[in-house]
Amino acid sequence: MAEKFYSERDLNFHLYEVNDVASLTGYPLFADHSRETFDMVIETAKNIAIDHMRPFFTEMDRQPPQYINGGIRVHPSVKNYMKICGEGGWINAPFPYEMGGQQIPLSINNAAQFIFSAANYSLSVYPHLTTGAAHLIMSFGTQELKDRYVPKMFAGQWQGTMALTEPEAGSSLSDVVTSAEPTDKGYYRITGQKTFISAGDCDSADNIIHLMLARVKGAPAGVKGLSLFVVPKFRIADKGKLEPNDVACAGCYHKMGYRGSPIAQLSMGENGDCRGWLLGSENKGLTYMFQMMNEARVGVGIGAVAIATAAYHASLEYAKERLQGRNVLEKDPTKPQLAIIEHADVRRMLLNQKVISEGGLALAIYCGKLVDLVHVSSGEEKERSELLLEILTPVVKTYPSEMGIISTSLGVQCLGGYGYCDDFPLEQHMRDMRIHPIHEGTTGIQAMDLLGRKATMKNGKALMAFAAEVESAVNRASSFDRTKDRAAELKESLELLKGVSMHLMGIAMKGNIDRFLSDATLYLEFFGYVAIAWQWLLQGMVAAGALAKKPAAQDADFYEGKLHAMDFFFEYELPKCLGLAKRLRSEKTVTLDVKREHF
Ligand SMILES: Cc1cc2nc3c(=O)[nH]c(=O)nc-3n(C[C@H](O)[C@H](O)[C@H](O)COP(=O)(O)OP(=O)(O)OC[C@H]3O[C@@H](n4cnc5c(N)ncnc54)[C@H](O)[C@@H]3O)c2cc1C
Repeated sequence: MAEKFYSERDLNFHLYEVNDVASLTGYPLFADHSRETFDMVIETAKNIAIDHMRPFFTEMDRQPPQYINGGIRVHPSVKNYMKICGEGGWINAPFPYEMGGQQIPLSINNAAQFIFSAANYSLSVYPHLTTGAAHLIMSFGTQELKDRYVPKMFAGQWQGTMALTEPEAGSSLSDVVTSAEPTDKGYYRITGQKTFISAGDCDSADNIIHLMLARVKGAPAGVKGLSLFVVPKFRIADKGKLEPNDVACAGCYHKMGYRGSPIAQLSMGENGDCRGWLLGSENKGLTYMFQMMNEARVGVGIGAVAIATAAYHASLEYAKERLQGRNVLEKDPTKPQLAIIEHADVRRMLLNQKVISEGGLALAIYCGKLVDLVHVSSGEEKERSELLLEILTPVVKTYPSEMGIISTSLGVQCLGGYGYCDDFPLEQHMRDMRIHPIHEGTTGIQAMDLLGRKATMKNGKALMAFAAEVESAVNRASSFDRTKDRAAELKESLELLKGVSMHLMGIAMKGNIDRFLSDATLYLEFFGYVAIAWQWLLQGMVAAGALAKKPAAQDADFYEGKLHAMDFFFEYELPKCLGLAKRLRSEKTVTLDVKREHF
């Protein structure tokens, strides 16, 4: 197993040199913190990851959850890890003091999440899900609901879930049919089925608290009729005793990867006695969920980046050690073999992994800071942060998820036959990665969100805010010798993206919505290349500035590495925009013309 699963040096570069996260302490909300407290949080996260997470990375994959006697048994390390997270305040770290939290900026919390996910993605999701569920109760629940559920969740004793998906309602939440019937006792009777619910049942927790979408009897059809309920596995009866709440676990799926965390099939109300407590008002359930979606989707991006990063470091270590072949110019077979990192094609694969993982991390840290700025700023800064977050959310969710598949596959390729075998962690990283373009909204759904909603929202204001940020970076980069050519190339790609956006919006304005959205996924891919090129230009500028100050040799290598990676991205990845633009402007409507009989 690889020792190094992320680079502390690189994480600090993104946090402090590129994004100046320490400046957040200038806002009253974060004034009690300092660079020192941030460093302490990250150091503690690293130690937890090394001591309590990474050692179980392989074992949790080989001993996946089991469905036994109507419940799911998970790896014993989950209970221990939840206890550590509860006692260490990791589940409520980003919440305000009055909610029992530590008011840690999301940027720093995300950095800790990145370390946890890189160490052991499956294990990292349990507290993360609990944070999300508790956040919903804290934001929209009555005081009684908060007092009843949140303390145990924050303590890591009760597991939280997000229960949206049903057998016939995955991407299309408008088709959710789980029903909620009001009673005169303050709760609703819940009946229905949920599927694929992460940690939907597990013996690591004393109770499971589902944040569940259901439809109140008589509510309007579609998403406008969805309400959000707290549905516990065990409800609290007299004298605080827990009694079953008629939530049955009907099974546990066997997954390709990310196998340390179960996805459960749940059945509510088989005995007519499943009780749910409404959060907020009826029919506003999806709106409440969406208020948290931005943070959750940045979180998925972080998970994908983390796996890609762990895979990159594993293949890099291997490539430095593995001896195979000689230089193409060396004809003497008695000469020693070279480490494979000396072969240009292996360096290409390593650079490709580096630009995806470090470029994805750059965007994720940038978006985490945007979430913080939305919370603490006001006026123009707040509006700008909100717009940028809106348009970048589908990108930060999707780029690392889709490109992470390519990246982890390149990691396997670097190891050749050994990469395909489970003696090395690469094959597991590749399997673990595959979930990310699927959960929290598939790539297809993210793409329609980007093109159909975000790019057009407020008359294109979010798109313009993004373009203005990129242009500002281009202008600054034009004054550095080392980045000025790259700045010009990014400007060209941005203009191409603007042109394609206008072209597609012209199609939408003619009412041809099918055609407008038919290649939304390609538009998202295009957008991703531009956004990551921008992030590489920002990194390149910092690196060029730091090199001009003649740093020590080790730092100089780090910054030179950044510039080589930036060059790689601009030479090998950004040009892919040309092909995408050509297709997105084409008059041919191949995917709309082909009929099911033609397959
Ligand atoms: C490991 C795992 C963990 C999960 N965790 C949770 C969880 O904790 N809570 C929860 O509620 N759910 C969870 N899910 C469910 C997950 O969110 C859904 O699987 C996902 O939203 C897709 O839904 P589906 O599987 O029904 O696929 P479908 O919606 O049937 O989609 C199949 C394909 O069709 C495409 N498609 C569907 N509709 C459209 C459309 N209108 N236009 C274009 N393309 C379309 C999709 O992009 C996809 O490629 C989890 C799933 C997995 C596998």
